[in-house]
Amino acid sequence: MTKPSESLPIIDEQKIGAHLKFHGLSGPEIDAELVDIEKSGGLPAEILRWWRGDAHTHSAESTREGFNYPEGLYHYEEILYYYEMLGLDFVCFTEHASLPQSPCVQEPTSAISQSLLEHTKRIHNLRKELSGKYRCLPFAGVEANIMYEGEKPRIDIPDEVLAELDFVIASRHRVPEEKRTELGDIRESLSSAIVNPYVNVIGHPDRDIQTKTEDPRAAEAYWQMWKELLGEMRLKNKAFEINLKAQPDPKLVQMAADMGVKFFLNFDAHEFNQFLNYGDPSSITTEQRKADAQKYAWAAGSADEDDLLGLAIYKKEKLAQGPGVVPILRLAHWIKYLEEIGVQPEQVVNSSRENFLAFLHGNSETQTA
Ligand SMILES: [Zn+2]
Ligand SMILES: [Zn+2]
Repeated sequence: MTKPSESLPIIDEQKIGAHLKFHGLSGPEIDAELVDIEKSGGLPAEILRWWRGDAHTHSAESTREGFNYPEGLYHYEEILYYYEMLGLDFVCFTEHASLPQSPCVQEPTSAISQSLLEHTKRIHNLRKELSGKYRCLPFAGVEANIMYEGEKPRIDIPDEVLAELDFVIASRHRVPEEKRTELGDIRESLSSAIVNPYVNVIGHPDRDIQTKTEDPRAAEAYWQMWKELLGEMRLKNKAFEINLKAQPDPKLVQMAADMGVKFFLNFDAHEFNQFLNYGDPSSITTEQRKADAQKYAWAAGSADEDDLLGLAIYKKEKLAQGPGVVPILRLAHWIKYLEEIGVQPEQVVNSSRENFLAFLHGNSETQTA
């Protein structure tokens, strides 16, 4: 069986370009209109001042053999071209490691470890090839899983592999049932990633662990846990991700901002329509259902030629529609919020490529220290 990413044809750069559009913002009251990216020169300057690169993007490489469902649909080149048109300066391809729903420890020789090393080489070659031609340059990353090995929390990818990558996100996706509710366990699992010298950012830090408690003592303990964790993050120079797909509690973001923790504003793009299905499921069209079935067939390695052709057309159409109004509005909303709580763009690591490179450099010095 070929890898899913290798079975999907790539869209030719010329064929994408002519149709690229995105939902832009036209005024302070934010009503969206469809903007031609090539004509407008990209996203509005007020967004680009805060978001100059995406540091959490999944390419087709994230749809690993054996996952049997899609975690990424586009090739590096397609995403790069698209982000270039948006006016971005960089993108980190942060591919999934082992299966997010049931992570397992990877040896350096495992197929996933080896494919991450291969991914790094390909991205580095692509970066060389594109520099001077593109403003938007690629970086090689991984979204590793915070998991448990027996009683001990760790991440699924070994250090020697992490060391080769440019960028490492550590995220809690699925931890055992008995480790999900106790604050001590939550704290310990996040802390294990914060002290890992190769981790750069904690992905969607409070996803699935927001407490909806009415009990003031439980609430106090919850916020105390975060105060300690954010203190550790500040000390170890680990960034806090504002993930547009799994958005954090604004109160937690304010706490992180006040403590001087750095942020990333990340799309966490798996494909470019990922925000469409979030509303009313009955609004999903027949075409969308068909495309979903084709995506699953592709991910499972059972797509026929018609499926692959259908997917190629689907991908092209979605690219032409742009990121859509939901993610751009979410981005605008978070930028406004960060401004309100006194955050400057410099505190957001991906507000410029220089800022991002300086952050990586700072992190790599602590790895060798
Ligand atoms: Zn994630
Ligand atoms: Zn992700």
